[in-house]
Amino acid sequence: MMWSYLVKTPNLVQRFFHNYSWRISTEKKEIFLTFDDGPVPDFTPWVLKTLRKYGAKATFFCVGENIKKHPRIYKKILRNGHSVGNHTYNHLQGWKTPTRKYLKNVIKAEAYLKGGQHSGTKLFRPPHGRIRPLQAKILRKKGYRIIMWDVLSGDFDPHLSKEECYEHTIKNIQNGSIVVFHDSDKSFRNLDYVLPRLLEHFKKQGYVFRALD
Ligand SMILES: [Zn+2]
Repeated sequence: MMWSYLVKTPNLVQRFFHNYSWRISTEKKEIFLTFDDGPVPDFTPWVLKTLRKYGAKATFFCVGENIKKHPRIYKKILRNGHSVGNHTYNHLQGWKTPTRKYLKNVIKAEAYLKGGQHSGTKLFRPPHGRIRPLQAKILRKKGYRIIMWDVLSGDFDPHLSKEECYEHTIKNIQNGSIVVFHDSDKSFRNLDYVLPRLLEHFKKQGYVFRALD
């Protein structure tokens, strides 16, 4: 099996980039599920419905232009008591984007994340997990927490069977894990299989699924 990414973020990487959040330090049986790239029709509502069935809370890292296109789905995320985070306005890749342009794009997304009663978010996840140190430094100065992950489900990977995706994701989860999924078309083939089973598996073991705050 050839993967172009690492499922489990190595401890060494986590220590080196200690200004980023990779996992929540806790002794409790808590798991922090995250869903990137929405809100989009069909897939985001399906995730919301599935989470509700298990009494689970999660964090949605939203793309600004998707909020603009689908404001009702965005509001539904908030109404369901989940957290939201900034994922830029156009899903920009930090290494390839000049810092000024990158920051402007984050701020543009901020305006859409704030909508209605919501006061906005101080959670940020860089698209593709790629951000330049200067970009991260400026965002931290603006009060953002940079949220990475310790478990990448690989739900988007067309070469990964749904069973493999499930097995390696549950195997790598520990107390306080931050797990990445995508509420998107390309991930649904795996997500549809993995998410309900993962929720079932850990709920039985007494785990609680919490949103980042
Ligand atoms: Zn993304």
